[in-house]
Amino acid sequence: MGNLIDGKAVAATVSGEVAERTKRLLDATGIRAGLAVIIVGEDPASQVYVANKHRACEEAGMRSLQVEMPAETTQIELEAKIDEVANDPAIHGMIVQMPLPDHLDTDAALNRIPFEKDADGLTADAMGRLMTLQPGPLPCTPAGCIELLQAYDVEMKGAHAVVVGRSEIVGKPQAHLLLKEDCTVTICHSRTRDLEGICRQADILVAAVGRPRMIGAEHVKDGAVVIDVGINRLEDGLCGDVDFDAVQPKARLITPVPGGVGPMTIAMLLKNTVAAAERSAGR
Ligand code: NDP
Repeated sequence: MGNLIDGKAVAATVSGEVAERTKRLLDATGIRAGLAVIIVGEDPASQVYVANKHRACEEAGMRSLQVEMPAETTQIELEAKIDEVANDPAIHGMIVQMPLPDHLDTDAALNRIPFEKDADGLTADAMGRLMTLQPGPLPCTPAGCIELLQAYDVEMKGAHAVVVGRSEIVGKPQAHLLLKEDCTVTICHSRTRDLEGICRQADILVAAVGRPRMIGAEHVKDGAVVIDVGINRLEDGLCGDVDFDAVQPKARLITPVPGGVGPMTIAMLLKNTVAAAERSAGR
C-alpha cells in the first residue's frame, strides 16, 4: 500500500545506526554501551517488553543488564537498587519498567534515575531539558514519531500539528518535540470542544488516546499525515486509536498498528543509551 509509514523498516535503520555507533565507541575507547532494565513483579506484558529490549540490546552489541525484583519489593528497596544501578559505571542507560505494582510510588522511582542515565527520557529533568531546549535524553515514543516523520520527509516547519492526548509519556512531550521542529501545535484532550473540527485542521495528526479506532475519516483533512500511537488489545488482535480502514484513503501517509510507531520505541531507547555512553566517554 502506497501511503503506509513502515515503522519496522525505519526502526531497523535506527537500530543499525545505533549498532554502528556502539561498535565505534567500543573500538575507540573500550567502552561497551550498557542498558539496565529494572522490572518489579511478574506482569506478563512487561515481561515480553523486557525480553524484547534485552534482545534488541544484544543485537546492537550493547551490554544488557536485567534486574528482576519480586512484586513485594518496598519503595526503599527499589530506590536502593536504582541507586546501585545508577552508580554502576558499566551502565549508561537505565529504565524502570512500567507499570510498577500499585504500592510503589512511580514518580519517586522514576525521578531517582539521574538524567544522564535516563534511557526513557521520562524523568522530570529530561522533560525540563526538552522544554528548555537543552541536550538530554528524549522520550522514546514521541521521539520515534518525529524520526518517522523525518524518514518520510514530512515538512514540519510551519505545519499545523494536532496531538490528541496530553499524557506525560506521549502527548505532552510529543507536542514539545513537534514545536521544536517548528510546527504550530494544538493539543487536544478529553475536555476539548469540537475535537473533529480541530483535528480536521491538522497537516500532521498524532493520536495518543488509548481508545480503539476513535479517530475516524471525519477527523482527517484530505492529504494529512496521520501518526497512530495507540496500542489497543481487542479480542481480534491489536488496533490503534485511528480507524485505519476509514482514514487510510484520505491520508497522504499513515502508520499502521502494529508495525508503525510501536517498533520505534525500543530503537529510540537504544539510541538514548548509546548517546549517553558517548557523552560519558566525552565524545
Ligand atoms: P493516557 O491514558 O495516559 O492518556 C490518554 C490521553 O487521551 C489523555 O490525555 C486523555 O485526556 C486523552 N483522551 C481520552 N479520551 C479522549 C477523548 N474522548 N477525546 C480526546 N482526548 C481523549 O494514555 P497514553 O498517552 O499513555 O497512551 C496513549 C496510547 O498510546 C495508548 O493506546 C497506549 O497503549 C499507546 N502507547 C503506545 C506506545 C508505543 O507505541 N510504544 C507507548 C506508550 C503508549 P485527559 O488528559 O483529559 O484525560
